[in-house]
Amino acid sequence: MKKIKENAIKDIIHVNICILLVLLIVFALAILYKYITYKKDGQASVEASIDVKELYNTINEEKKDETEENNRQNSINSSTTDWELLLVNKNHKIPDDYKVELEEVEITHKVDKRIVDHLNQMLNDAREQGLSPIICSSYRTNAKQKQLYNNKIKAYKRLGYSSAEAEELASYWIAIPGTGEHETGLAVDIVSKNYQILDEKQEQTDVQKWLIENSYKYGFTLRYPTDKKEITMINYEPWHYRYVGIENATYMKEHAMCLEEYIDYLRQLEEEKYKELV
Ligand SMILES: [Zn+2]
Repeated sequence: MKKIKENAIKDIIHVNICILLVLLIVFALAILYKYITYKKDGQASVEASIDVKELYNTINEEKKDETEENNRQNSINSSTTDWELLLVNKNHKIPDDYKVELEEVEITHKVDKRIVDHLNQMLNDAREQGLSPIICSSYRTNAKQKQLYNNKIKAYKRLGYSSAEAEELASYWIAIPGTGEHETGLAVDIVSKNYQILDEKQEQTDVQKWLIENSYKYGFTLRYPTDKKEITMINYEPWHYRYVGIENATYMKEHAMCLEEYIDYLRQLEEEKYKELV
């Protein structure tokens, strides 16, 4: 009888221990689950905060870009009708009533008197750097332009080209009379005293390297860059500088724009401003 009682008690204890063990396992699993979930949430919240930060930065950058663009647009005080921005090319002839007041520069040359100081300053500063720039071409009369253009046509004809072909080829080197910037007095050809040939090697001279880099500070732009031939319709001329004003030249340099592109851009701004007013 006593033995039976002892066995019964042992069974009860055994069962209790089992229950206890099961409870402990469940409890441990619950803690483990909680821990894993917590970890995941933590990671997610870190990721979420990174996302928010990135979004914040993106918005801020976009805002900054927008503000910079607005500031740029507002900082351009130029108008497409400014004298410095006179567009002369194959599609834009010099106006018939165009008048230019000339002034002598570098003894044998003449340019629009409004650009003389800027031009002299640029040449003087280049010389102070030990360079030897010389003007090889400046203002040209329409008659002189015609003569140069016809000579070029003759040269191509001598090479066997037809009249039409010769005219076409000549126009890429010598502007068709009435469409050349030299007739405006706003353009000059500058070369190095040590290399006076008008070809692409000119860009390798110290004079051109300096001018290409610095001419914008004096309001000049390299008018016919090598990568804009399609737009300017004139071959690369690393010697032809056109006065456009310091502010315009700086913007064009910063944004790698040729005059045609810059004037298009200004026109767009003017149209937008006009729309705002209407
Ligand atoms: Zn030129």
